Amino acid sequence: MLAHNQTADGNAGPALRLGHLYPDQLNVYGDRGNIITLRQRCRWRGIMLDVLPLQLGDELVPERYDMLFIGGGQDREQDEVARDLREKKSAGLRAAVEADMPVLAVCGGYQLLARYYRPAVGPELPGAAIFDAWTVHSGKEVARCVGNVALSWRESTLVGFENHGGRTFLAPGAEPLGRVLAGHGNNSEDHLEGCVYRNTFGTYLHGSLLPKNPHFADYLIQLALQRRYGIDSVEATLAPLDDSAEWQAHRAMLQRLGVS
Ligand code: GLN
Repeated sequence: MLAHNQTADGNAGPALRLGHLYPDQLNVYGDRGNIITLRQRCRWRGIMLDVLPLQLGDELVPERYDMLFIGGGQDREQDEVARDLREKKSAGLRAAVEADMPVLAVCGGYQLLARYYRPAVGPELPGAAIFDAWTVHSGKEVARCVGNVALSWRESTLVGFENHGGRTFLAPGAEPLGRVLAGHGNNSEDHLEGCVYRNTFGTYLHGSLLPKNPHFADYLIQLALQRRYGIDSVEATLAPLDDSAEWQAHRAMLQRLGVS
């Protein structure tokens, strides 16, 4: 019986390590499903994905990881996390980002990787300033950005669910993840969604995001494999999977949103 990451000749297959930031604080609207998806899509290819939690108080040592994930949370969890992110993890996070490690940041995590998050109540939360962007909550009396969302991404689309009071604005020159085809996106005004800096991807898409966007999940895995094993290595070529169910769900969401 082969171990799940053993190849037929008995050698261990490729392995990746994912650092999961604040799994107990930032995990709303199914964001943990992104971890499950990455782990399973690796396992189906004989790749071992070790998921290592980065809790409050833990240092972020970039050499220990091949990719990072930070999920979303309510304002109170963000308040709890922001100081730790700045004092314990920002230097290691910056080093990882500048070394092109793939990072996925969703909603509240996305907001905290930008310059600051100004919540509806309480002090402004300085962020890790990875994204040249900032977020301002519009106040409890203003309707939140809630609902299904679709955006263009590279030559394809991404679909998901958003629920945020904060409105995010990108500085001139900052790269969005994509353009909004349906839904609110960053701020319901400029038709932009998310932000990208090197291989760090910020987005408001919960859902969780990756199960209905297998192409994005594989893109992140491929970046991590190429970075660890070399861009032309055999380990960095992902075998295709039967994603018919995933794409059926993706297309059903596009249809529901009236996006062709
Ligand atoms: N608390 C933030 C906001 O309301 C982020 C919410 C979230 O992560 N879903 O904008």
